[in-house]
Amino acid sequence: MASKVDLTNPIFHDEDAARAHLEGLLWPHGPSCPRCGVMGNRITKMQGKSLRPGVYNCKDCRKPFSFTVGTVMERSHVPLAKWVLAAQLMASSKKGFSAHELHRVLGTKYETAWFLFHRLREAAADPKAGPIGGEGAVVEADETYIGGKEANKHKSKRKPGQQGGNGKMSVVALVERNGETRSFHVANVTSAKLRPVMVKHASRKSHLMTDESRIYPRIGSEFAEHGTVNHTAGEYVAADGFTHTNTVESHFALIKRGVYGTFHKISEAHLPRYLAEFDFRANTRKMSDGERATLLLAGAKGKRLFYQQPD
Ligand SMILES: [Zn+2]
Repeated sequence: MASKVDLTNPIFHDEDAARAHLEGLLWPHGPSCPRCGVMGNRITKMQGKSLRPGVYNCKDCRKPFSFTVGTVMERSHVPLAKWVLAAQLMASSKKGFSAHELHRVLGTKYETAWFLFHRLREAAADPKAGPIGGEGAVVEADETYIGGKEANKHKSKRKPGQQGGNGKMSVVALVERNGETRSFHVANVTSAKLRPVMVKHASRKSHLMTDESRIYPRIGSEFAEHGTVNHTAGEYVAADGFTHTNTVESHFALIKRGVYGTFHKISEAHLPRYLAEFDFRANTRKMSDGERATLLLAGAKGKRLFYQQPD
C-alpha cells in the first residue's frame, strides 16, 4: 500500500482511540446535537456504567446522541476501530481491497467484511453530485466492457446471443480533465440510452472528446464542441495533441485491475457500488489517504452531518 498510514496506530485496534479519533474528525469544534445543532454547554457527556461510551445529551432536545448519527456507522454493531481500519484500507487501495482480505485482517466473518465495504461504497456514492464540465472544460467520454467472457462459461449459464464480449457488463464513464469522474453501468449501450446519462452528468457547454464510435456523433453535436480520435486506425492522440480519451481510459484501466486482480468477479447488481468506489477515489485523489478515509466514514462527500428533524 503506497501510503504513509501507520496501521499500528491504536485508532485501528482500540475502541476508545477510534472513537476519540472519529469524534475529533467529525466534530472538529466539539460535540454538536444532530437535531438542533447546538454545541458547547448545551451538550453534556453522559456517564455511567450502564451507558455505552460516547453518548452525549442535548439539553434543548433532551435526546441522547453520538457522533455516528447521520454517518454510515449509525446503528452498526461493528466496533468503531474495525470501521476505521476498513475505511482506511478502501481509501488507500487504488485497485480496491477485497472483502476476503478484509475479513482476515479484521478477524470478522466474511459477511461482516462484505457488509462493511458495501456500506462504505454506499457512502462513497454521491447521488446529488452535479454535472461535470462547463464552458472551456474538456469532458472525455468512453465505454468499456468488464466481466467474464461468456464463451468461458458453462453452456447452461450462457445467455443466448451473448457469446464473446457481448456478455460483459458495459460501463460508461465521463471524466472532466483535471476535474471529476462519473461512471455508470449502462446495459447495452446505444446512442439513445447514452444521451440521458450524458446530458444529466455533463454540461453541454463542455468540449466533448470521444473515440470514433458511432454512438457519439449525435450526442456530440449537442455539446459546444466534439473532438474524436480514431482508435481503430491506431490514433490515440489527434494531431492537435489535445484531442484524446486517455484520461477516461486510465480510469477504466484502474477499474479493470480492481475487477480482475482484486475482486475477481462482480455481479451486475453490485457493479454500480464498485464504480462509486473507484469514482470516489478518483474524485478525492488530491486528498491524503487519511482525509479520504474520514470522508468515507462521514457518509459521502457533500453529505451534511447536521440535519434538521422535521417538526
Ligand atoms: Zn438538540
